[in-house]
Amino acid sequence: MQLPVAKPQVVLAYARVLMRQHRRPLARMLSLYALAAVMALIPAWAIGQITDFASNHQLTSSKITLYVGALFVSSLAYAVLTFFARRRSYVLGETVFAQLREEFLESVLALPLIEVERAGTGDLLSRTTNDMESLSRTVRFAVPEWLVAILQAVLTLVAMLLVSPLATVASLVSLPFLFFSTRHYLRYATPGYRRERISYATMSGSVAETAEGARTIDAHQLGARQSTRIEDSVRESFYSEMYTLLLRMVWFPTVEGAFAIAVAATLAWSGWLVINGHLALGAATTVTLYVVQINDPLDRIVSWLDELQIGQTALARLVGVSVVKDDRPRSGPAPSNETITMQDVRYAYREGHDVLNGITLTVKPGERLAIVGPSGAGKSTIGRLLAGIDAPRSGSVRVGEVELAQMPLTTLRQHVALVTQEHHIFIGSVHDNVALAHPEASEREIEEALDAVDALEWVQHLPQGLETELGTTGYQITPAQAQQLALARLVLSNPHTLVLDEATALLDPRAARHLERSLSAVLHGRTVIAIAHRLHTAHDADRVCVVIDGVVAELGTHEELVALNGDYAALWSSWRNEKPTAS
Ligand code: ATP
Repeated sequence: MQLPVAKPQVVLAYARVLMRQHRRPLARMLSLYALAAVMALIPAWAIGQITDFASNHQLTSSKITLYVGALFVSSLAYAVLTFFARRRSYVLGETVFAQLREEFLESVLALPLIEVERAGTGDLLSRTTNDMESLSRTVRFAVPEWLVAILQAVLTLVAMLLVSPLATVASLVSLPFLFFSTRHYLRYATPGYRRERISYATMSGSVAETAEGARTIDAHQLGARQSTRIEDSVRESFYSEMYTLLLRMVWFPTVEGAFAIAVAATLAWSGWLVINGHLALGAATTVTLYVVQINDPLDRIVSWLDELQIGQTALARLVGVSVVKDDRPRSGPAPSNETITMQDVRYAYREGHDVLNGITLTVKPGERLAIVGPSGAGKSTIGRLLAGIDAPRSGSVRVGEVELAQMPLTTLRQHVALVTQEHHIFIGSVHDNVALAHPEASEREIEEALDAVDALEWVQHLPQGLETELGTTGYQITPAQAQQLALARLVLSNPHTLVLDEATALLDPRAARHLERSLSAVLHGRTVIAIAHRLHTAHDADRVCVVIDGVVAELGTHEELVALNGDYAALWSSWRNEKPTAS
């Protein structure tokens, strides 16, 4: 499943708003180009005048000086005006592109997580890279060049009509060729380019997936399968590129041919008019030169159409991200208390396959609840629903009386936050990485957060302590240390309820238990819901919830459940036998 692509009307409306926002600089840039275009019309007119004087035997050296001077000055003025116009156009292009990039980033950050998960990261990655790059070319070059070319073509046509409407008629023979070939091209090019873009997304998705899952692929000997998948996506890209190339191979020569026909027709027609005394030789010369001259902007109009198509497709994909419906309201009531309630919750990743089959659970403020159960029982799914990442298919998950899925994201995060085994270290210092959760936090608060997760000591021993640069280009910390930083972030963001999904799994059992104890001292009064494989977490918790096949099988304190002699008691005794020293 892909993220949506915006409809043409939406893209057009977006482009219109963008143009309106930059109306003034755009008008100034086009005025400069218009002046330059007028300057570019003077040489052909001057040559026409000289031709007229020569054919009437009235050519004097002062006239030659005058017209050649005009030719020289206009060419110089053209060069200077174009320089300034181009400069304005680049500045405008960069400004608009920067705005587009910022808006896109905002929409990406506002995407509901579940949508990104459904679409896969390949699609989003391809939009942020390939589509952004295509759009950059379109905004920086194609759009200004295209507008300028239209302006130049129109002004040249007006000049031709002013010199001789009669002679101009012949140049119009090229229009049907241009019109029909371009219409044909555009009709097939839009879906063609869209297919091309989708194929790039699939290709980068398969390559990224193969690289990320290299170990799994190796372990299960899936190399051949992945190769076939990548080959298929490369083949699809190849054929979709061949298709658009074929379209261009037909279209470009037709356009070139149309231009040649226009020049030949004008020459023949205006020659006939001159011979029969209907037109002055100078006017015929000027019009023919204008036809040669107009071919350049016309050529640019049609050849940039190609780039504009690509840009339009890219823009549709980028704007598409912003049309993903925000599944949350922007504002809403704050819950009056911090009790977490799951009421008859059912949830399915795939339609018709419920993985939670009616979970009912109440967690009181300040309680420490451990969720245990066999693999695949639905524990992580419960964690995701408790963190409000997705809404249940039926039933309700609430903080106080407010449905989690109906809370604005910022409010939600003040109440509930989730830490899983997945964690990310951003490029930046240890300080920056922890302070992400609370940018205004003082150094002392950050140190306290690190201390709460047993990380302060090793952080202080890093080469530059808190200021040590981390991330791909910086100091490499271990996955267990990264997990501690993720927990420190959580401590600093200070939500009322913390959902920990195997958040200490990467630490060795002794360190994990120590961390959990120091964490619970800091989090006194906070609700902690810990999904755990290691049963010492359950042993230390206030209550234990055993989940089997998507339902709550047992619920009670550690002692009660051991006394019950059911599933938990069995899990506990086998765990103790496996790890006699860990409890
Ligand atoms: P574990 O202890 O192995 O992490 P768990 O108890 O946390 O297991 P869940 O991860 O919640 O179990 O998974 C519950 C069921 O949902 C499993 O059958 C799993 O295969 C399925 N499932 C989990 N994530 C997805 C997903 N993204 N798409 C489809 N099915 C999924």
